[in-house]
Amino acid sequence: MTRPNAQPVASHFIDGAYVEDATGAPIPVIYPATGEVIATVHAATPAIIEQAIASAERAQTAWAATDPTERGRILRRAADLMRERNHGLSQLETLDTGKPLQETLVADATSGADALEYFGGLAADVTGQTMQFGGDWAYTIRRPLGVCVGIGAWNYPTQIACWKGAPALATGNAMVFKPSEATPLCALKVAEILSEAGLPAGLFNVVQGAGEAGAALTQDPRVAKVSLTGSVPTGRRVYAAAAGQMKHVTMELGGKSPFIVFADADLENAVSGAINANFYSSGQVCSNGTRVFVHADLHDAFVARLCERLSGMVMGDPLDEATNFGPMATADQRDIVLRHLATARSEGATIAAGGDAVDGDGFWLSPTVLTNLTDDMTCVREEIFGPVMSVLRFEQEDEVIARANDTQFGLSAGVFTSDLTRAHRVVGQLRAGSCWINQYNLTPPGLPFGGSRQSGIGRENARMAMDHFTEVQSIYVGMTPVEAAY
Ligand code: NDP
Repeated sequence: MTRPNAQPVASHFIDGAYVEDATGAPIPVIYPATGEVIATVHAATPAIIEQAIASAERAQTAWAATDPTERGRILRRAADLMRERNHGLSQLETLDTGKPLQETLVADATSGADALEYFGGLAADVTGQTMQFGGDWAYTIRRPLGVCVGIGAWNYPTQIACWKGAPALATGNAMVFKPSEATPLCALKVAEILSEAGLPAGLFNVVQGAGEAGAALTQDPRVAKVSLTGSVPTGRRVYAAAAGQMKHVTMELGGKSPFIVFADADLENAVSGAINANFYSSGQVCSNGTRVFVHADLHDAFVARLCERLSGMVMGDPLDEATNFGPMATADQRDIVLRHLATARSEGATIAAGGDAVDGDGFWLSPTVLTNLTDDMTCVREEIFGPVMSVLRFEQEDEVIARANDTQFGLSAGVFTSDLTRAHRVVGQLRAGSCWINQYNLTPPGLPFGGSRQSGIGRENARMAMDHFTEVQSIYVGMTPVEAAY
């Protein structure tokens, strides 16, 4: 196996330097393609958590007072370093997650760099309002929140660290970031690069650990905000813990998003969209369009062409750039998906493609297409978070809108049609934070991203993310003498 020589040198990154505390519980880092242990990190002890929060708190006041143009310049320098080192960082992301290098080269460090560059450019443009009240007037300023905590899922470790870190830092906050214990390496490289780009010590600290470390950070009274990317059950726990101290939250949670293909859609384009919406990153994408509603007139042709196109899938060594389909990130996740497939079979689903684990080392599953489904089946209702597409038939526009909205989630949705009016009419009725028309899962940093209903609260990316990392202070200016009753 090719090993990048860029592995982080210790478990945590605090106050501008790598820090080790081997008394923390060991966490093996497993390469999902082979099951091999490629590194070991240690979970944060209470002393490490204390160091991380204390150093963030110390650093934040001076950072908030730093000229925002300078804050932005540091973020943009970090973006340049990430792009220069994209190849090594992508290899590390592949080792951390199992995602093929073909994907990580274009979707991870590059997407992190886009966020750093975007928010770096906006840092000096955080503005307030002025209001006139007769002779008196008022103005508002946006103030940073202070120490913010970022908690990440395991599917996009570099991107999540940057999507949270960049807007937090651009607006004058400090961040303590805890990656998923399944993918602990990449966020450390983000911290290292930010530091090399000139970020003062303490402003972006990374600590390792499982849920307990996240919970300890969430409950610390010095923390003003928690931004979580994770599942709905974890979101509920973290939101509840944050509410106890009235902390700000952003919750980027799970989904079971509808992907609607009307009869007038371009078939090849819709199949391409559905492949990306279900099998990219082996299906481990929160916003995936996993309930694929296809108009009855197109259904059979769609399924046939989809299964044909799956023969172009190349499963193999993820570090080989020819590979375009990787393993599940963890053995646990593979087992969860296999249990879902067993349930789907027992509830009467037809397996039109895939449906099995792949023999050998590592956590491999074949891309799976399920048909002959009804909306009440478990595979149609629950997030599977693996390469499993459920294809459903529909007849009428109103019917498909109602069925698409019949879910507790509300993260994303896609509509494929050549009827422009219908496309806008339909997305206008879908209860989903992010919708795509004739495209899927593109998330440029200038477009807000996030969910409604159980899929989350708040938005990442765009100016909105900066609003979520600041709070408004209103200042009333009296211009005339105060009139008092006595
Ligand atoms: P989890 O909810 O299991 O974990 C998310 C993070 O929260 C991990 O770092 C986890 O630590 C941590 N955590 C767990 N319990 C607590 C707690 N009580 N307090 C604080 N932190 C805690 O999600 P997964 O990592 O399994 O990721 C998959 C989920 O993430 C899917 O539901 C997916 O849809 C969602 N997701 C949402 C995205 C979005 O933007 N909307 C994007 C990507 C994924 P550890 O895992 O180390 O125990």
